[in-house]
Amino acid sequence: MNRLKNMMRTWLLLELGKGLWLTGRYLFRRKFTVQYPEEKTPKSPRFRGLHALRRYPNGEERCIACKLCEAVCPALAITIESEERADETRRTTRYDIDLFKCVYCGFCEEACPVDAVVLTDIHEFHFEQREGHVITKDELLEIGDRYEPKIAADRRIDALYR
Ligand code: SF4
Ligand code: SF4
Repeated sequence: MNRLKNMMRTWLLLELGKGLWLTGRYLFRRKFTVQYPEEKTPKSPRFRGLHALRRYPNGEERCIACKLCEAVCPALAITIESEERADETRRTTRYDIDLFKCVYCGFCEEACPVDAVVLTDIHEFHFEQREGHVITKDELLEIGDRYEPKIAADRRIDALYR
């Protein structure tokens, strides 16, 4: 009986008809396809993309080299070296993040007591040299400086839930 049923399905092209019916149902509906990169979908303020190091409005680095981010990173992607400055404050001399190791979990951001290291919403980046996957302190600060208004705005939106 089953065999006969299957044969009937095949001869009557029922599966094909079902497929065409489904296509037809969606043919004139609103399209979901986004023409990336010309069109972009909205992103959450919690989106975890490329890292940045932030400064205070007076230009001073926020990072106090406590190394909590380095300790909490599950991928061991952060490398920090630090020293004491003449004014007896501690600052990093090296702050590297290996973007090949990073899993974009955001733990470093969560652990930071002064909101210095953050994950921005930048997801379109590439490397032109193999060693480019290690992002240095200067590069991180530059990203922070360039995107500070957006970073601060995202933090303000999310502040209620932290
Ligand atoms: S996002 Fe996660 S994996 Fe990446 S550097 Fe921060 S803690 Fe490490
Ligand atoms: S980025 Fe934050 S958590 Fe990491 S060393 Fe600097 S102050 Fe500490």
